[in-house]
Amino acid sequence: MPESYQPPLQKDDEHETTHSQSLDTNISKEAATVHKILAHKGGDVIGIRPDDTLGDAVQLLRDKGIGALIVTETDGALLGILSERDIVRKLADAPGRTLPHRVDEVMTKNVEVCSPTDDLVSVLRRMTDGRFRHMPVVEEGRLIGMVTIGDVVNYRLLQLEYEALQLKQLIVG
Ligand code: AMP
Repeated sequence: MPESYQPPLQKDDEHETTHSQSLDTNISKEAATVHKILAHKGGDVIGIRPDDTLGDAVQLLRDKGIGALIVTETDGALLGILSERDIVRKLADAPGRTLPHRVDEVMTKNVEVCSPTDDLVSVLRRMTDGRFRHMPVVEEGRLIGMVTIGDVVNYRLLQLEYEALQLKQLIVG
């Protein structure tokens, strides 16, 4: 048993759960879906218009502390995604002349999206295989949030810790 691990203080005839090592109550044996992440972080999606400039985009990315923007029409239709990586590429292609370029010149047009009921491991796999870190969440054609690879990895880590803790408790009794 690792030295840092303290078995739950519980008499044999008591069945109350100890909370001494409980993790986020949001983590459970239920299937981990995209919905779980949105329930925790909310459904805010920061967007920009296709005719805005990269200058507008970098300010928005800085002010919001995020790494990618959804590009939408005025009616909300999803046109693309613009990540800091797209801007860095343009910086290398057009040094000193990057910021006046339009967003739709550099955004990615074929956006991969997921649904709130998608399993987190499958989303992680798609992001890893596609080499991108952002995934808009769409339900019935409507944008309802954005998950990042950081959100998914963090949730999976908490879940694995929770499972490991349960196994330890099973062994200790
Ligand atoms: P990222 O790792 O998310 O910063 O993005 C890396 C590259 O993938 C950039 O060219 C993005 O425009 C693109 N990208 C980001 N998210 C997606 C997505 N969900 N679907 C398709 N391309 C994406």
